[in-house]
Amino acid sequence: MPNSTISDSPVPGLYIVATPIGNLGDIGARAAATLARADLIAAEDTRVTAKLLSHLGLRISMTPYHDHSDERTRAALVARMAEEVVVLVSDAGTPLISDPGYKLVRDARAAGRHVTTIPGPCAAIAAITLSGLPSDRFLFAGFLPNKAKARADTIAEFAGLRASLVFYESGPRLAASLAALADGLGDREAAVAREITKLYEQCVTGPLTTLAARYADAPPKGEIVIVVAPPGEALPEAADDTTLDAALRDAMTDKPVAQAAKAVAKRFGLDRHDVYARALALKDAG
Ligand code: SAM
Repeated sequence: MPNSTISDSPVPGLYIVATPIGNLGDIGARAAATLARADLIAAEDTRVTAKLLSHLGLRISMTPYHDHSDERTRAALVARMAEEVVVLVSDAGTPLISDPGYKLVRDARAAGRHVTTIPGPCAAIAAITLSGLPSDRFLFAGFLPNKAKARADTIAEFAGLRASLVFYESGPRLAASLAALADGLGDREAAVAREITKLYEQCVTGPLTTLAARYADAPPKGEIVIVVAPPGEALPEAADDTTLDAALRDAMTDKPVAQAAKAVAKRFGLDRHDVYARALALKDAG
């Protein structure tokens, strides 16, 4: 059992158990053993969990649990954890990750109950590993809002982060979300990971606008995670001679020639010495 070997007597408390995100073969040994020893399973949807229990050959008492379940329901579960093994599961993957459980864990902790986790599948983590995009820093952003304004505002909050971004998504919303991400973040590299661990698992990569166009007329079926790359270095602006001269004259109004040339060279990705020579010529010409 958790915190020791699976044959020891389980300590009463709350056990957070991750379940498969598609392939039932992904249920872990500790997860299966914990479910088997549960006195009660608090499940997001008892019909969904019944299928997993049937696959495992188990018959365990279940009760529905959501974070919007009333305080009395939650208090009753927390009370039972004093003497019994209460297992929390969601329909798929890791409870609490865009799924119910946060308030139950909060209240169990506040009551001093034993709280432990049996980690396992999570679509966000599976997608980032599949995407080929930087995985050293990422932000899990859950589902974007439905309404365009709220969605754009949320995306704007993430624009400056130097991290990959991970979103949960559904087929019908996919193209609009990809287009909104391109608008708010620029045309970054991204990945659309679909039906992970299932028969038609697929991970398509490319710039956000290309992915948005691909899915605009053919919304894909199944469950989806979008991963977006961090921002790259800003590309230098393109400049013709007139633009360059205007930028130099402007910069020289409040900077010495060398500093003005350096700033303008950086902005347009040009050689600093060439730009300095041009700045001197402009200054001499008055
Ligand atoms: N708690 C779950 C987890 O750990 O991944 C997530 C639950 S959330 C309500 C459901 C969303 O997760 C789906 O809409 C989809 O965005 C993503 N998802 C779940 N299973 C998936 C799969 N097999 N492939 C791709 N995305 C999946």
